[in-house]
Amino acid sequence: MGLNKIIGQKTLVSQLKKFLSDGKLGHAYAFSGPEGMGKRTVALEFAHDILCPFGKSDGCGCVSCRTFAEGTNPDFYEVITDKSSIGVDLIRALQEHVSNRPAYGYKKVYFIDGADMMTVQAQNCLLKTLEEPPEYAVIILSAVNYDALLPTIRSRTVNFRLEPYSEGEIRRIIMPLAPKNANELDFYINFSRGIPGKAVRMLEESSFRELRHLIIGLLQKPTDFSQTEKVRKILTDNKGDFPEAIGIIMSVYRDCLMVLTGMENRLINSDKKDIIKGIASACSKRKLMDRLSALENMQRNFRYNINYQLGIDILLLEIQEV
Ligand SMILES: [Zn+2]
Repeated sequence: MGLNKIIGQKTLVSQLKKFLSDGKLGHAYAFSGPEGMGKRTVALEFAHDILCPFGKSDGCGCVSCRTFAEGTNPDFYEVITDKSSIGVDLIRALQEHVSNRPAYGYKKVYFIDGADMMTVQAQNCLLKTLEEPPEYAVIILSAVNYDALLPTIRSRTVNFRLEPYSEGEIRRIIMPLAPKNANELDFYINFSRGIPGKAVRMLEESSFRELRHLIIGLLQKPTDFSQTEKVRKILTDNKGDFPEAIGIIMSVYRDCLMVLTGMENRLINSDKKDIIKGIASACSKRKLMDRLSALENMQRNFRYNINYQLGIDILLLEIQEV
């Protein structure tokens, strides 16, 4: 474990290492960015390196590093909840723990994953620790929506926004999980748009592959009633798949545009080239662009869409319109 193990985020990792090597570690850090960017991974590897009393990033067998890897290091404390918010009681429990000195090394790390889920009361409570932290305490936050935290918290925290990963970095991250079909791997890398967690989820969840298979089938035969109903059922049962479905359709339309403009070597769905060419042959550029902007609107408004069933109907119509 340790920061040396992190793939990508080079600037961030070298900055964190510098804090450690210069002995200039602050008391509060935050890692922010969209879901799937590896905020938790970076936070945990940073915590590992902070806690090792020998300043090693990997290959260290000290009791701190060993117990950290096992998840039993008493100097590491994570706020865990199964609720949709982090209440003040959890922060009070953290504060009780803060008052005890480190067991193994010189530091203790407190990690709040999803810190933007803290209630205002919880944040105000945490503020007391941020204002007067014991010299050994380091608090690490992760947040999708960092700006949702109180300004008083933010002003005492060094925030790092994670950068999108390069194609090569995502390839290295997902390689160990990947199927043998290299073409399909390229699709996951392209479709994830710099977010490794997205590529990993697509690889691990067969439901995503099923959805993609059905949607592409439907785009080939837009009037196929039984295929339409299968897609409708998946989306009705899994609301979380709706944005992915829009994303899949958009990727196909975008690829069709690429084919029509002679750039078929730059497809997202590179493993389905022949199918894409078939779909493109029945489309016009104008129509594809209209549909893409309609889908973009739909993606933006999805969160506010009260009538979900109507949303599904409109999406299925979009498929039939090209
Ligand atoms: Zn160690």
